[in-house]
Amino acid sequence: MVATVILGMLCVHLLCFSTMFLLISKRLDGNRMGMEVFALGNLLLGVAYALQLVGGVADHRAIGFINHTMTLGAPVAYALGAARFFNRPVPVLRPLLAVAGLYTAAQLLVQFTLGTQARHAMLAGACALLFLAMVVTLLYGMRSFAKDMRAEMTVFAVLIAGICGLNAAKLVMILHSGLPALDMNSGFQTVFYVYMSFLGTVLPPCMVWLVLRRLTDELRVMATQDPLTGLLNRRGLMACLDMHFRSRTAGNAHLLIVDIDHFKRINDTHGHQMGDLVLGRVAQVLQATARKGDPICRLGGEEFLVVALDIEPTGAFQLAERLREAISHSEVPSISAQDPIRCTVTIGVSKSFSHPQALDAVLQQADAALYRGKESGRDRVESAFAPLPLPA
Ligand code: GH3
Ligand code: MG
Ligand code: MG
Repeated sequence: MVATVILGMLCVHLLCFSTMFLLISKRLDGNRMGMEVFALGNLLLGVAYALQLVGGVADHRAIGFINHTMTLGAPVAYALGAARFFNRPVPVLRPLLAVAGLYTAAQLLVQFTLGTQARHAMLAGACALLFLAMVVTLLYGMRSFAKDMRAEMTVFAVLIAGICGLNAAKLVMILHSGLPALDMNSGFQTVFYVYMSFLGTVLPPCMVWLVLRRLTDELRVMATQDPLTGLLNRRGLMACLDMHFRSRTAGNAHLLIVDIDHFKRINDTHGHQMGDLVLGRVAQVLQATARKGDPICRLGGEEFLVVALDIEPTGAFQLAERLREAISHSEVPSISAQDPIRCTVTIGVSKSFSHPQALDAVLQQADAALYRGKESGRDRVESAFAPLPLPA
């Protein structure tokens, strides 16, 4: 009786969360993160349990076969949904239909050769194996594709290991005691469905949490990144500087404004699209040439900022020279013209600063130096401090 009531509540839970997952997937639109597949998994399991309520556990009519196929289809759907959550564009309908067809055929074969008991044992065994594969995948994922979600993957692995163990125990009990092991009044069935009900309550909010984490992570990246070049935007740069200068050991920094010379001409001659490619190439060269850890930002248009951290004025000037030279040697293959597109930059270097609030002031200094560089012919480095002798 207790197990039957729990089973009924579990049905309601699964179907409600199926609707909720479906609604979430509709809101997500572009990347649904597998939510629509999780909704399908919940629907399959919810309907399977409803059929079990109608037909009884050991039903050997068609309804019993459908129930078993759906019960097995649910974890397959969850696995496919998880693959989509981790950005694997796996198909869903075909593999599910293939599993359903093969499993129904296997059920018919087992039923007519070995009987109902063997068919139930097969379901428990197949579910145990499927859940075991999921646990192994989750443990592997913690070290590879889901490194950033170790805590969540551990929780999922532990919860799924529980249901894997219960299915294995069910298999042993069916083989040992036959169909009476499935009696809904038995202690084992009560434990089984209490645990299932626990999973049905705990797992859906965990999945919603995963989606929420992904969305907030994506929002954070969008809010701090320039979409064209992948560099930081101004907000991202401020966050970086805040973090850097919070450290007690942080030394002085210099701000470098890098402005592409005559960029408008590149746009006018080769088109806006090629202009975008040039911006991307300059961003790549800056990243490859600047020191590791120095924040690089696209300020807007064809202007970039590089913050040289923990550096003396001479070092900042030399870094700016290295950047200027690397960009002047880089090229972007042109679609329309034969020769690749080359560009030069003028760089303005600020005086040293040691706190993030100074950004506006040093930006003005570097901008004034940049203006002088443009006035004196471009393709050069100018600084806000006294000119420094460069090493031979
Ligand atoms: P100067 O040497 O004095 O810096 O001249 P300039 O032509 O580089 O500078 P100007 O400010 O006159 O022109 C900058 C151009 O950059 C104008 C604008 O259309 C273009 N631009 C701004 N943002 C983008 C962008 O995202 N993509 C492309 N392709 N062009 C952009
Ligand atoms: Mg320019
Ligand atoms: Mg400019």
